[in-house]
Amino acid sequence: MKTKTILNIGFDDTDSPKGMCTTFLAYKIVNYLKKEKVNFLDYPKLVRFNPNIPWKTRGNGAVGLKIETRNPQKIKQKIKDLVIKYSDTKNGANPALVFYENDTIPNEFKKFSESALCELVNRNYAKKFATKNLESFYLGNGQGLVGAIGVIGYQFDDQTVELLSYRTKPNFGKKRLISKESVKKMKEKTYPFTFNSFDETKNKVLISPHGPDPVFYGIRGENTKSLLKAAKLIKTKEKLDGYLIFKSNQGTSAHLKNEINVSELKPYSSGNITGFVFEEPKMERGGHVFFSILSNGKKVRCAVYEPTGLAYEMSYLKKGDKVKIGGAVRKASKKHPRIVNVELVKVLNLKKNLKLTNPLCTKCNKKMKSKGKNQGFQCVKCGKKAKSKKVEEIQRKIKKQTYLPIASAHRHLTRPRQRIGISNRNIQFDNSVSWFRIFKN
Ligand SMILES: [Zn+2]
Repeated sequence: MKTKTILNIGFDDTDSPKGMCTTFLAYKIVNYLKKEKVNFLDYPKLVRFNPNIPWKTRGNGAVGLKIETRNPQKIKQKIKDLVIKYSDTKNGANPALVFYENDTIPNEFKKFSESALCELVNRNYAKKFATKNLESFYLGNGQGLVGAIGVIGYQFDDQTVELLSYRTKPNFGKKRLISKESVKKMKEKTYPFTFNSFDETKNKVLISPHGPDPVFYGIRGENTKSLLKAAKLIKTKEKLDGYLIFKSNQGTSAHLKNEINVSELKPYSSGNITGFVFEEPKMERGGHVFFSILSNGKKVRCAVYEPTGLAYEMSYLKKGDKVKIGGAVRKASKKHPRIVNVELVKVLNLKKNLKLTNPLCTKCNKKMKSKGKNQGFQCVKCGKKAKSKKVEEIQRKIKKQTYLPIASAHRHLTRPRQRIGISNRNIQFDNSVSWFRIFKN
């Protein structure tokens, strides 16, 4: 009897804007592994990495699997074949596949993953890391190694789940027909245990993509039970191929959890900065708003773009307001210095908006009139006098709260409003849950 090997598998960058999808490859691989009767030790992981690097694939998402097998060599070879078969290398995918045989994951992997989430990781560094630490395979330029290694080392502080359903091949590229009413009803019945499914303000279904990829819909939520309940409520005109449930960092804003070093302000790094508004917001052409904050003695320029839906509200910030912004550092251009593209603002403290006004007559409840310079004030109606002006507090047009982009500007990692303050650490793997299924059509 051969001994069992614990195998961590990571892959990334198999898709291109023209089609395919790394999660669909995962679906194919899981299907194969189920037939081989391997022991699954966790749900498949779908980890989104730094959304702000310039050469990312659509969602910059990598997939990881953790299994136990008596036949690792056979399984590795077959998975490699599947990666080759299902990668869209013709259209610019740079797929990578890595294997790591161990139950525990070393600290270097965790650090690597943290960098892939919040910074820009050079692919040559990833190649060196791979050569030193694990078994790897890649096609193209090797860019996929960053996510493939990263997903193995990823540590969840907070997690969500997603049920992705897939189309049968003859339907790839065709329009997706999904009942809007059923999605609305699903939201009503499963909220707040599902999120980002329907946008009421735009009357728009959010669970279905529009591209040529094989995904029919993806339902995101807090636990597998709610996803399965939700999937039953969705009505489609199309017979689907099957589905797979992933554990994910989507909806956690994990990329914003670290403080950005304001002295370095490294291009493409994501994170947060706390400071005081220094130069007040100016709205420029296109409705974009620019301001600067002072943080640890450094002035940081911030940009809030119109499509985020945040620009108008942020234009009400005033000098001295304390804010915590989340976003990414944009590289300097010829015209502009480095700037932080803002994707979230937490208003921590607002300066009082004080104004000196003529005093009010307490008897008549009317504003008094000035009697001339240094002459005091008097009520025109009853003649009552007052010596000086009164300080009046004018209500601010912005509140002490967290401002998030509108749903249409949400990225995979963006924490939706309903998840503010939530930390879902405890999604235990339960193999009795129907987390993978192929429908018999
Ligand atoms: Zn009066």
